[in-house]
Amino acid sequence: MPDSHIHHLQCVLCGTSYDPAKVAYTCPACGPLGVLEVHYDYEQVERHISRAQLKEERDPTIWRYRVLLPISYSHENRPPLADGGTPLYAVERLRKYLGMSDLWLKDDTRNPSASLKDRASIIAVVRAEGKTVACASTGNAASSLAVQAAAVGLPCYIFVPHNAPRAKIVQLLMCGATVFAVDGSYDDAFDLCIEACNTFGWYNRNTGYNPYLVEGKKTVGLEIAEQLGWHVPESVLVPTGDGCIISGVYRGFEDLYLLGMIEHIPRMIAVQAEGSPAIVRALKGDGIVRPCEAHTIADGISVGLPRNGAMAVRHIGASRGFGITVSDAEILAAEKELAMRTGVFAEPSGAACYAGLLRLLDNGTIARNERVVLLVTGSGLKSIDAVVEAAGSVVPIAKGAEGMAIVEKVVQSAVSSSEEVREPKTSLRGGGLRRWLRGVFKSRR
Ligand SMILES: [Zn+2]
Repeated sequence: MPDSHIHHLQCVLCGTSYDPAKVAYTCPACGPLGVLEVHYDYEQVERHISRAQLKEERDPTIWRYRVLLPISYSHENRPPLADGGTPLYAVERLRKYLGMSDLWLKDDTRNPSASLKDRASIIAVVRAEGKTVACASTGNAASSLAVQAAAVGLPCYIFVPHNAPRAKIVQLLMCGATVFAVDGSYDDAFDLCIEACNTFGWYNRNTGYNPYLVEGKKTVGLEIAEQLGWHVPESVLVPTGDGCIISGVYRGFEDLYLLGMIEHIPRMIAVQAEGSPAIVRALKGDGIVRPCEAHTIADGISVGLPRNGAMAVRHIGASRGFGITVSDAEILAAEKELAMRTGVFAEPSGAACYAGLLRLLDNGTIARNERVVLLVTGSGLKSIDAVVEAAGSVVPIAKGAEGMAIVEKVVQSAVSSSEEVREPKTSLRGGGLRRWLRGVFKSRR
């Protein structure tokens, strides 16, 4: 398959350049952590893309940017599912609550498998050219690959850690994937998957290993820029585990900047869980990503050894960005508050960026008039086990008149808890819903 617009692949560790026709995955000299970055021939690309051309383009999916994707020009078969083209919401209620004037929420739960990972899986499925596909994943990448493989009819093998969330495993079984639940961590599943791909000649969709996946994920950055009329935000907050998504977002803006289509590249802010902080540690230290223990309820960003760490650190630095960590308690509270004030039910890792925003507003790092985008990467419906307790409780009532009496009481006490404004540095736990629920239970006694 001639990738005529890809100029070369370059190792993030040693800087060696490779011909894409000769190297499929990572740098032969550096091994699995020598992730390769795709470089395009921008002189060739710029003949095929412009603001004016995109204005005329009717396809809302990622294929509107196909000239910037690692897919050959001659590839005609467009996969059947609609990936990308997800909404960028102005979140008016949340703006009012936070006192922010230019906050946006990119809702990537609206992809076919309900996560941003579809943007990468679709590239893998196209590039597999009929081969069996495989990946190791904590959940979303796997379910996304299973969904995309089912749509085009490719056999699919998945390696998950045995504790991956139930809903995500069910989704990939339903799509007909063969699932190996590895009695070990994500990293163990990753190693096994690479070995199986080498043994059986499968196409490997592992994040932070296959260089073309970041290129699919970058479409989220391309969309944000276009949806904001090319006036890109000052900051984008990105939930960060292995570092692939944040590199993808950066790459999207970088492409547009190199093509002269935007004025600057936004500041990339990596939000990690306190229990899985490898990239933040590297950013605050010497820039080298080292493995650490990973324990967090946010399974999508629970990564001991970020496979794309070196590239992510470089991209975050190039954007003048930084990283912060948030606790599991903050993530859970953020998930609920985000859902209550926007209607977008994020999974814990997706909500982490909102928890990060609250911290950065409180310490003054983000100004309330800044143009800021929160990237919600996956749906909360896939990780309900993690949030069952934080969700709150139902109000049990009897049937008939006795039940109706309680309904009336609840409705009366709800009237007082309408719109409110968040005071800086207050705990999320003091939120209106909690007060309201307390009122409900008091009135029932
Ligand atoms: Zn290398």
